[in-house]
Amino acid sequence: MGSAPVSEPLLRLRGVTKIYEPDGQEVVGLEGVDLDIHSGDFLAVMGPSGSGKSTLMHIIGCLDIPTSGSYEIKGIPVSRLSPEELARLRNREIGFVFQVFHLLPRYTALRNVELPLLYAGVGREERTGKALEALRAVGLEDRRNHLSNQLSGGQKQKVAIARALVNRPSLLLADEPTGNLDTKSGDELMEILTRLNGEGTTIVLVTHNQAIARRAKKVVYIIDGRLVAKEEYRELRE
Ligand code: ADP
Ligand code: MG
Repeated sequence: MGSAPVSEPLLRLRGVTKIYEPDGQEVVGLEGVDLDIHSGDFLAVMGPSGSGKSTLMHIIGCLDIPTSGSYEIKGIPVSRLSPEELARLRNREIGFVFQVFHLLPRYTALRNVELPLLYAGVGREERTGKALEALRAVGLEDRRNHLSNQLSGGQKQKVAIARALVNRPSLLLADEPTGNLDTKSGDELMEILTRLNGEGTTIVLVTHNQAIARRAKKVVYIIDGRLVAKEEYRELRE
């Protein structure tokens, strides 16, 4: 009595290992990763190129499965979900933002943001309403009728975020979202992510940039597929 219960993590990885085997050769993507991510976290993942950051994001986002180890979402082993349940989880609970924006160039900003809702079979009126709201959340409502190839890099990335948010995911995964942006656009993007996190969205962000990582609530470091202490990471950088 009296003490608050320790909250169960939203995401729990235990001994997660991912081995790729392109042409029979084994390549380690991740090795023995233990990680808890709680609801409301804003976690930055840092590591050199090829260290396994994207592999980790793909597994967290249920776009790929570990070779061994366990991954649970809200206490449920992902390996036990059916393909339908996985698809629903990805579509409804998880938003993805990547370094390359993947917008359809000849569609308007609004249409690009509406796409996930279109795939989900949401009717037109609701689609437009939600897409406008998501564009408003990233400050681009006034660009709604611009074709995406008429937008700057920073604006494109904001549209990609609006698209990731349009289903109101509880988890937002961003893999080097500021990698192709100038400093000002990167700062604006971090402000948006920080605000979303304040509103309750759990965020996992991959970055190379120390200044960006500092704006997250926690940072983990990854080298050669393993999570390492900050000191080990620093030594490698020096
Ligand atoms: P990061 O995002 O940190 O740059 P990745 O997770 O993309 O690193 O890659 C980790 C390691 O796994 C690298 O050695 C990479 O070459 C390898 N790898 C990643 N994806 C594949 C794949 N689909 N097939 C084979 N090897 C891969
Ligand atoms: Mg990567």
